[in-house]
Amino acid sequence: MSSWEEKVHKVTPYTPGEQPKSTNVIKLNTNENPYPPAGAVQKAIADFDYESLRKYPDPTAAGLIGALSDTYGVPADQIFVGVGSDDVLAMSFLSFFTSGEKILFPDVTYSFYDVWADEFRIPFETVPLLPDFSIDIDGFCKGDAAGIVIPNPNAPTGLDAGTAALEKIIRSNPQCVVIIDEAYVDFGAESVLPLIEKYDNLLVTQTFSKSRALAGSRIGFAFGSKKLIKYLNDVKYSFNSYTMDAITQKVGVAALSDPEYFKMRCLAIINERERAKKRFTELGFDFPDSKSNFIFVHHPKVAAEDIFAALRENNIFVRHFDGERVHDHLRVTIGTEEQMDALFEFLGKYLEEKA
Ligand code: PMP
Repeated sequence: MSSWEEKVHKVTPYTPGEQPKSTNVIKLNTNENPYPPAGAVQKAIADFDYESLRKYPDPTAAGLIGALSDTYGVPADQIFVGVGSDDVLAMSFLSFFTSGEKILFPDVTYSFYDVWADEFRIPFETVPLLPDFSIDIDGFCKGDAAGIVIPNPNAPTGLDAGTAALEKIIRSNPQCVVIIDEAYVDFGAESVLPLIEKYDNLLVTQTFSKSRALAGSRIGFAFGSKKLIKYLNDVKYSFNSYTMDAITQKVGVAALSDPEYFKMRCLAIINERERAKKRFTELGFDFPDSKSNFIFVHHPKVAAEDIFAALRENNIFVRHFDGERVHDHLRVTIGTEEQMDALFEFLGKYLEEKA
């Protein structure tokens, strides 16, 4: 290795789900929304004054923060926005978790957390999920962590820990920032957002990528105490003041302008998920009781990897993870009724031949 290379900070990057080139696929592998964003988004893009692009965007994203403030009833100085919740979470790790002491997250969880920890040289320990894949609440309540991050619902299990359990964790850890990552909260779990009034060390992150069908625009946001948000902004402005572009800021405001559409689409996904649970059960699968827009399924007779490969060959993409506790599961994103029908038609035939 040449001498300069020895000085490079080498990390193992996060592996995002595959984005197939062909459009002729049923894509149930990255928890995207199968429906288009609100119509107001299309109008906002069409009406966008392209000449304004010669100027830098508003670094404070005041329009979007104002719209989030109105939608969620949270003061603007308690809201932070970023380029997807990945950006918000990365900034949060950088702002709150660099004491040199260990942070905690579940062993089976969003696989970006350990990547950020390595990237920012943050020591971490994982708290194993219980055998039924639920969060080990007491494992997070020892009060000696230098940071905690938990998704609720968890990914890829889809399980909702419930507000009471999460509050117990937050209450037990006044010595550090606790991040509850609510990327999937709009599909039926309860948000811990009201708790930011009670705990000034609680940061709640959410995203437009899933429930608002805007993964391509990259909009994430966080709620917390004024102090937390100020610290986050200080780090953001020390990094890149213009994180969110001008078009995206307008797109975000437009998406928030149609709450009825948002509710309707979330409900459609929830209904489809419940229908999918019945059909997975009929086919012999077992799974944790998901409150998200995906289901984490396991078949007792056929290896997940085989099902994954057979689906892929038939242009149906789902997600398979390596890892001791998860390699025999598949994470299946909830698609439209037609997409799910095609999935179950294939699985029905495939399992009949296999079993
Ligand atoms: N948190 C969790 C638990 C996720 O699964 C994802 C999606 N990969 C994210 C955060 C980040 O989503 P985004 O950056 O699109 O907001």
